Order: sequence, then C-alpha cells, then structure tokens
Amino acid sequence: MKIIMLGAPGAGKGTQAKQIADKYGIPHISTGDIFRANLKQGTELGKKAKEYMDQGLLVPDELTCDLVMDRIGQEDCKNGFVLDGFPRTIPQAEALDKALANINEKMDYAVDVDVPDENIVNRMSGRRACINCGATYHIVSIPTKVEGICDRCGEKVVLRDDDQPETVKKRLNVYHEQTQPLIDYYKKQDILRTVDGTQPMEQVFGAIVEILGA
Ligand SMILES: [Zn+2]
Repeated sequence: MKIIMLGAPGAGKGTQAKQIADKYGIPHISTGDIFRANLKQGTELGKKAKEYMDQGLLVPDELTCDLVMDRIGQEDCKNGFVLDGFPRTIPQAEALDKALANINEKMDYAVDVDVPDENIVNRMSGRRACINCGATYHIVSIPTKVEGICDRCGEKVVLRDDDQPETVKKRLNVYHEQTQPLIDYYKKQDILRTVDGTQPMEQVFGAIVEILGA
C-alpha cells in the first residue's frame, strides 16, 4: 500500500502517518529523515543536496524526488510506504509519478487530513513552551499544573513565536498556495480520500483505516 499524506501544518498528519506505518507494517517516510540519513551516510545524493543546503538554497524537486525514489527502492518498502511531507508541489508530484511509472508502480491513496485554518490557529495558540527546559504543553489538552508555570522546572511557559496566530496564518497561506493544487491533482487521479481532521485523533485514525481497509 503506497500512501501520500496531505494536510496543513498542524493538522496532525505526521501523527496519523506514524500510526498508519505501525498498523500496516510499512515505513513512514519523511523527507526530513531522508535528508538527514543521506547527509549522515555521505551518499552521492546526500552530498549533492548538501551543496544546495549549504548555500541556503532549496533542494531542487528532481533531486528531492531522486532521494525519495532511492528510499522507496529499499527492501523495507516492498509492501508499501507512507509519504509524509512529499510531494509538496505539483512539479514534485509529477516527478514522483513519472519515476514510479518507470518501475511500473503508482500511488494507491492520497489521504488528506482536512482541518479548517481557524481550528489550526486555535490549536496552535493554545500551545505553551517552557523558556528554560523546552517542555511543551497545551492549555486545553496538556495544561500545566499551575497556570503559566512549567511542571518540570518551575520556569515560565510562553506562546512561541512559531505558534503565534500571525505566524501560523502565514504558514497556512504558503501551504494553501503550494499544496492545495495537489488536492485537485490527486482528485483527478481518483486516489484522493479526505478525512475530517477536526475529530479526536483516534477517530481520525479510525476513518483512515476504514478507507485503507483493515
Ligand atoms: Zn521547564
């Protein structure tokens, strides 16, 4: 089973991807992990990617796709995989399709974890992080025992810049611009499946399992 996870930053797609990987015994593949592994092992692809990263440039779509295809070609992916964070754009999706077609493969599902922007902004604005030890909390789901004070070290907990509503909205705008077209792309291929990501995590996962089959 070959699955692509789609969803805005903060929609919880990474968590769902991990659970899918566990349940179906297939690897959870994130581009971040692939980059790190290739840099660490000093592979040819890793060296090429590093040249771009060292200059503060984005790694080109084709190279990213080569890295993903290299990962997908490994033994543990023979029964499938869950892609998380790739493809992000139409050119990446096209490069992936082309590379898969070359080996007579194609993706089975693109699962979109759909959460309205305002829910994501609200979720993020409830996050708190300790200024001292970095412990993270959430005012609704994981509150500190004493309001505003870290359970672990007694220092102040604050809303990080990354989680400020304005920052989150900017991130969401970038997402919609780049990734939303992918939703149409996979809809046309008839492999898009949308789940309501506003439900509790277990229910989101239940909905995904219904789509993929037990
Ligand atoms: Zn702390």
